[in-house]
Amino acid sequence: MKKENVIERYSKVFPKAARVTYAPIVGVRAKNAKVWDIEGREYIDFLADAAVQNVGHNNDRVVKSVLDQAQRLLHFTFIYGFPVEPLLLAEKLVEISPIESAKVILGLSGSDANDGAIKFVRAYTKKRTILSYLGSYYGATYGAMSVTGLDFEVRSIVGELSDVHYIPYPNCYRCPFGKEPKSCRLACIDYIKIKFEEEVYADGIAALFAEPIQGDAGMIVPPENYFKKLKRILDEHGILLVVDEIQSGLGRTGRWFAIEHFGVTPDIITLAKPLGGGLPVSAIIGREDIMESLPPLGHAFTMSGNPVTSKAALAVIEEIEERNLLKRAEKLGTYTIKRLEEMKEEHELIGDVRGKGLMIGIDLVKDRETKERAYAETKKVVWRAYELGLILAFLHGNVLRIEPPLTIEKDVLDEGLDKLEQAISDVEDGKVDDKVLINVQGW
Ligand code: PMP
Repeated sequence: MKKENVIERYSKVFPKAARVTYAPIVGVRAKNAKVWDIEGREYIDFLADAAVQNVGHNNDRVVKSVLDQAQRLLHFTFIYGFPVEPLLLAEKLVEISPIESAKVILGLSGSDANDGAIKFVRAYTKKRTILSYLGSYYGATYGAMSVTGLDFEVRSIVGELSDVHYIPYPNCYRCPFGKEPKSCRLACIDYIKIKFEEEVYADGIAALFAEPIQGDAGMIVPPENYFKKLKRILDEHGILLVVDEIQSGLGRTGRWFAIEHFGVTPDIITLAKPLGGGLPVSAIIGREDIMESLPPLGHAFTMSGNPVTSKAALAVIEEIEERNLLKRAEKLGTYTIKRLEEMKEEHELIGDVRGKGLMIGIDLVKDRETKERAYAETKKVVWRAYELGLILAFLHGNVLRIEPPLTIEKDVLDEGLDKLEQAISDVEDGKVDDKVLINVQGW
C-alpha cells in the first residue's frame, strides 16, 4: 500500500471526531524511540506515541509477556471469573501507590478511569458537585468530557453532566491573576479560599479533579507549595482530591506519580496511557472506603482485567523498576531542559521552557514581552520537524510537547534535539512556507 493511498482511505472511513493530524506518518514498525513508516523512512519519536511508550515502543519485556500470555489464556472475564493476572497487577499498583490501603478498578482508557472516579466521589460523599480546572483534559466519554476544562467544542454541542465548576489552574508563566511568581504570595490559593468562604456551594462539592502537571493545557507546572496548601483547604471542607496521572504517571516526571513531587497524598489516582505499554489498560486507585461506595457492577466492563493487557502492564512496571527508569527520567529531563534553555538564548521564538522529568513543554511566542502565542509558527515547526524525521506535537496551539520514551538512548535524544533546533531555526529564518499550515491540524 502507498502512503497517499492509506491517508486518502482514512478520510473516507474515519469521521473527523475520531482523530486529529499533526503529521501524515503511516507507522508500520517501531522500536524504543524510533518509528519507521510504510516507505521505510525513520523518525525519532519525541511524543512517545502520545505519552504511551514510557518504556519504549515494542519493549522486549512487554512483547514477550504479551506473547506468552496470549498462548495460555487470551481472556477469562474478570467480572465472573478469577483470572490471576489482573490480581497480580492490582496488587502491584497498590504497592507502588502512595495511597494507603488502596483498592483498584481496572479499565481500558483514561476516559473510563475518570468517569469511574466521578461515580466513586459522588457515591462516597453523597454530594454532586465536581470542581475542576480551566484548561484540564480528562477524556472523551461523557463524564470525563464534562469535567474537562479546556475549550472542547463537542461539550456545548452534545450537552454535559451538570454540577461541574471550574477554577483557574496555577500558571506561573501566564498567571490568570496577572501576578508575578516572585511577589504573588500564591494568589491562586487565596482565590480558592475566598471562593469557598463566600460561596456556600463549597459544602456541596464532592471532589476536586486535578492534573498534578497540566498536560494538554501546555505542560503547566504548579508552584512548589500549591498542592500542600490546597489539600489543607480541601480537607477543611471535606472535599476529595482526585489526581489524574494519565499523562504524568508511571515515571514520566521522575517519580511513579507526579503528585509525589508536591508532598501530597490524593484520595484517588487515575492511570492509563503508559500503563499497558501500548495495550489498553487503565486503573482507578483509591482509598478503600471510597472504592467500596458503589454497588456491585457499579463500574465494570467485560474486557477489563484482561489477562494479556494485565501482563503487559505488569511488564511495564517491572521494566521501570529493574532499569531504574524513574532516575533515568529525572536525569534525562534535567539534561533536556538545560539544552532547551540554551536554545532559548539563541531563539526569540522560545518564550518559556518548563516541565519535570521528561514531561516538558516549549512555549512558542511571537513576542517575549506580550507572550502572544505563536500559533502559525508552532505548526510550521511541527511540520519542519516531520520533514527532518522528528515526531512532534503541540498543545494549546503553541506549546511543543517533548515527551520521549524514558528509555530513549542519549545519542538519539541529542539527535532529536538537534533536529528540533534546526526546525525552529528554519521557521525563524522564513524557510517554511505558509502553505504547510493546511497540513497540520493539532488543537
Ligand atoms: N487525562 C489526561 C491528563 C490525558 O492526557 C488524557 C489523554 N490525552 C486523558 C485523560 C484521556 O485518556 P484516553 O485518551 O486514554 O481516554
